[in-house]
Order: sequence, then structure tokens, then C-alpha cells
Amino acid sequence: MNTTALTIRGACPHDCPDTCSLVTTVENGVAVRVQGNAEHRHTDGVLCTKVSRYTERTYHPERLLHPLKRTGPKGSGQFERVSWDEALDAIADRLKTIATRDPQAVLPYSYAGTMGQVQGEGMAARFFHRLGASFLDRTICASAGGEALVQTLGGKVGMKVEHFAASKLILIWGSNSIGSNLHFWRLAQQAKRDGARLVCIDPRRSETAEKCHEHIALRPGTDAALALALMHQLITHDWLDHDYIAQHTLGWEGLRERALRWPPERAANVCGIPVQQITDLARAYGTTKPAAIRLNYGMQRVRGGGNAVRAIACLPALVGAWRESAGGLLLSSSGLFPVDRAALHRPDLLAGRSPRTINMSTIGNDLLHEGSAGFGPKIEALIVYNSNPVAVAPESGKVVQGFLREDLFTVVLEHFKTDTADHADIILPATTQLEHWDIHTSYGHTDVLLNRPAIAPVGEARTNTDIFRALAARMGFDDPCFQDDDETLCRTAFGNTVDFQQLLDQGFTTLPVPEAPYANGGFPTPSGRCEFFSARLAAQGMDGLPDHLPNHELQGSSPAYPLAMISPPARNFLNSSFVNVQSLRDIEGEPLLEIHADDAALRGIESGQMVRVFNDRGEYRCKAKVSTRARPGVVNGLGIWWRKLGPSGTNVNEVTSQQLTDMGRGPVFYDCLVEVASVP
Ligand code: SF4
Repeated sequence: MNTTALTIRGACPHDCPDTCSLVTTVENGVAVRVQGNAEHRHTDGVLCTKVSRYTERTYHPERLLHPLKRTGPKGSGQFERVSWDEALDAIADRLKTIATRDPQAVLPYSYAGTMGQVQGEGMAARFFHRLGASFLDRTICASAGGEALVQTLGGKVGMKVEHFAASKLILIWGSNSIGSNLHFWRLAQQAKRDGARLVCIDPRRSETAEKCHEHIALRPGTDAALALALMHQLITHDWLDHDYIAQHTLGWEGLRERALRWPPERAANVCGIPVQQITDLARAYGTTKPAAIRLNYGMQRVRGGGNAVRAIACLPALVGAWRESAGGLLLSSSGLFPVDRAALHRPDLLAGRSPRTINMSTIGNDLLHEGSAGFGPKIEALIVYNSNPVAVAPESGKVVQGFLREDLFTVVLEHFKTDTADHADIILPATTQLEHWDIHTSYGHTDVLLNRPAIAPVGEARTNTDIFRALAARMGFDDPCFQDDDETLCRTAFGNTVDFQQLLDQGFTTLPVPEAPYANGGFPTPSGRCEFFSARLAAQGMDGLPDHLPNHELQGSSPAYPLAMISPPARNFLNSSFVNVQSLRDIEGEPLLEIHADDAALRGIESGQMVRVFNDRGEYRCKAKVSTRARPGVVNGLGIWWRKLGPSGTNVNEVTSQQLTDMGRGPVFYDCLVEVASVP
């Protein structure tokens, strides 16, 4: 038999800063291999373990192949196959009925199941704008840090990732780069070979922490205290770039006064680390050039997460690190991409309406809200796409209770029967990245990537865009924009600001970003300076200067729950994606709680033993792993397992809270007190 092999270029759609360029080999219409594109410098021919298994995920035996309608009780996971016409007619009928009363009772719920601009919100936003549905505040991951960057640097901007290779000191702050930013880690390794010092700042002794020269295992939620103490030392030892501060910053006197209240002894006490570690780090940061900070979102999932990012983002300006291309800071580069969201999402379809906004991080409470003048109408319909809230949203006891409401109409667009899909009234099978067009920004580099479909949709799967087009037609939305095909949407995303022909030809194109973008200031803030003092925050009644805000659930405040818990991702999962890929689950084994030997001994817990992790919100069960990866007093509940694959049908979010961050209304997953006990 003849085989015809084709290679198709695409982009990794997952919530990862690396946004790799993919090359899929297709034989006789079947994808047989997914590899990293060697011609794309950021990918460099290498993919992480997760996405190297992409064909296993695409052709998974449990892939959803047909629309399904619920037949059993809510949440039972019992469904029957229906036709697309039956499913879409039922959805449109229900939405029309609700919209007649108030379209705000319909809530879209989506996040980064795909990072694509087209299969993300490309057609979905048009549909929900035209309907007048509630807005969703998409806060679940990055909003505190994102808002902090906007208030300090003027946007989600920073140094170019490729220049970390030439840095001489790299602070890897709040990131397990080996697991979640692999291509940056390769650059850090290159810098290390050239003599750079790597310091990891993270409560957990992660795979990354153990490979750095030094690990600073601070308490969760104390990063701002550490940053302020570093400033204290920079000031008292005069390791400052006075000229840069004078020319390119705003609010120096106030910040100086604030930082001088944070001698290393005070911060060491708050952070639970030796004074010497702070003074040594300050010396290194103040005297090594170029010094760079790779910040990641883990550390902003606490009450003071926004302030902490603000404090850290002030550091490079104090020492003039921005002057060199290999100095500065990178948390996210996504603000550098000129996406034409108005053209793509069409907010004009709201036609003057201003729907209320629901925060995705409090979906548990909001689904249980009866409706009121302040809240608006009770949520009657939920359309979930690119997200798995029953597994990933905080305080899942409440989330599940909401999803079990008999009067809630839930539609889920998915690849698999996730915990959320189990609670649907109708499940619609969606295409994977190998089956559709999309276009991608990145939050870790500055290239735009195009994703072409490599194979035909599997089973009866349809693209998200096609599903919203079909629903729009049934709702009677006849605006011409609902006719746009996916290639047109890809072209619309960037208009004329990127060379689309180059994207078609090579799969990626590089934005023209200067090598050292803030060497001479020019930050995209209102003042054009790095804003130590933010007048915009002050105008909102907030502190205009960064400060340390103690956690909502401060360790030591509750005798019943003495342990702080963080829930970083298991290395082979990406949020709740990939948990059902058998070969990856085999590597992870089972849900684990890492606990320090002292804390384990106090509770009579041994490695491999089943434990209960609990607080007033709920409990979940998993295996304990007595490990030096956990610092004393802190346990690491690795996530995010699907609830139904956990030993007691729950996961780590059973104990996390719906409290919010200081900025950006984000969740506080790592601001959580628990107790742990062995299960006989
Ligand atoms: S998850 Fe990240 S590292 Fe893995 S292939 Fe996707 S972009 Fe690359």
C-alpha cells in the first residue's frame, strides 16, 4: 500500500508561555507524529513530554465523537447520542426562551483550554455580544499579576526571552520552569554554562529549584516582603542606578521610604528564611550585570499577589537592569501583540447594552445566587468551552452544588467527558488543534504562530467557531460577521500588522520588538516611566505604592488548620488537560500531597499512606509523599487531577477558597490553610 506523508505546521494551543511551533506528520489522513519545529528558534525542535503525546490525545478511545444529551440525573455522566440538529435546536430553543426574559441569565464560561485567538473567543464573543449575555471576567490564572504589570510597567510587557541566555544572574521567581516553561529553562541552562548564577525563589523545592545554584524556600504569600527587603539592601548599600531612577521612574521617594521599613531581619521573619539569604541575594542582584528576573504566575495566587508582582517589577528599574537586553524582567509578553480584538470580537454587536459581569473565580457562589437587584438575574444557562470549571475552579464543593442545579441548563463543548462535561445537559464534541485553523500570540516570546488543520475532524467533532456559527443561525442572528470562515478570522486577528503570507509560508512571524525595549525608559504607562507609584491605583482608593499584604489565611492564625497548602501543577499535566492521557497519568501515578518529614512525623504519616487534607470548606484524599520538596509547615497538593480520577471523587480544589486577590479579582489558590491526617 502506498502511503503519502505530509507535514503540516501548527502551534501548541495550551496554556504555556512557550507557544511551540508544531510539525504534524500525516499519513493517509492520519496524524502519526507531532514534533517541535526545528526552524522556529523558540521551539528549537523540542516539545515537552505532554504535547509529544498529542496523537495519543487526539485519537484517545474516550474522545467525544458525537453530540450527547443527558439521560440520567445531573452529574451522573449518563448520556445518549443525538444528532447535531437535535442538539443545536434544543440549545437555541432554550437560549431564546431565557433571552426573552433577560439574556444576562446566559453566561459563557471559557478560559485557556486553547490559547488560540479564533477557537478561543473568535466567534464565541460575537455570539455572546449579539445575544447580550453576561460578561465573564476571565481571572482564573493571571489577572492579579497582569493588573500589577499594567500598573507598574504599563502593560504585559518585558524583556525578550531569548536574551536570558546572556544574563549573568537569573532569578526564577515563582516558577517551576522545567515543568511549565521548558524552553526558557533551556536558555537558563545556556546562561549557566556561560557562568550565570541561577536562583530559584519558590516555597516548593521543585525540579527547577534543585537544579539552580540556590533555592530560597520562602513561605507562600511573602514574596513582596522579600522584594522590599532586597530594595532595602539596594538602598543602604547604594547598589542603585540613580540616573535610571531619576530619568525613567515615578514615585522613587515614596518607594524608598517604604522599602527602608523592611530591613532583612523583618523580611526573614515574615518569609521564614535566613537573613543571610536575603542579604546575599541583594548583593548579587545589586552587583551583577546583567541581572534578569523570570517571574511566573504561581506567586500571585495569594491575597497580596498583585502587590507582590508590583514590588518585584520595581527591582529592575532600581538597578538599571533594563539598560541591557539581557537584563530586566519577564512575566508575560502578551501585551506586545497587536491583536485587533474589536474586529475579532465585535463588541459593537452589543448595540449599546452593558451586561453585568460575573467573575469566573467565584462561579461556585454565583451559580448558587438566587438573583437580586445588585447581582442581576439568576444564572439560568451556562455555555462552557475551553474550560473545566468543576475541576479547576476554587471551592469545588460549591461549584459542584451549582452545576447540580436542576434548573440550570448547561452546554459543554469538549474533547472528553471531563468532570464538567459529566454535569452537562448537552455535550458538543469539539475539534482539537490538529483539526482546525487558529492563530496564536504568546505570553513567553514575541512570535505570532499560525495553526493549520492537519487532519479532518475526528468523528462528528466540529470547531468551536462552527458551533457558534450554527447557533447564531438558529437564533436568527443574520449579521454578516457570522459568515466569516476560520481563515478569515485568522486574518482578522492581526489585520495588516503581521505578514499573513509569511505565516502561511513558514508558520510563524516575529514581532518587531526592540532588543532592550526599556533601555531608555519609554514604558507604556501614562507617565512613560516605570511607575513605583501608581496614581491609577491611588485613584481607586488603593495604596499607590507596593506593599506586603499578609495572606487571607495567615499561617498561625488557625490552630485547627496549621499547614499552608499550595497546589502547583503536576509536571505531566497542564492544569486539568492531559490527566486522562494514560501514558502521562502512568508517569504521575496518583494524586499526591508532598509533606515535610517533620510535619509527617507529628501526624504519624508515612510515605505512600492515604491521607485526608481538609479545612472548613471540605476535604480530599490522596497519597502522602514525605519529601524535601515541601518546606516545613507547607504542603504541596499537586494538581489538577480530575475529581473522578481521585480516590474519593474530589480533588485539591475541594479545600481552596473563593476569596480574591488585591488586584485583578483573581483567585487565591495558594492562600489556603489545611490540616492533614492519615486515613486508617
Ligand atoms: S505545552 Fe508548552 S512546552 Fe509543551 S509543546 Fe506546548 S508550548 Fe511547548
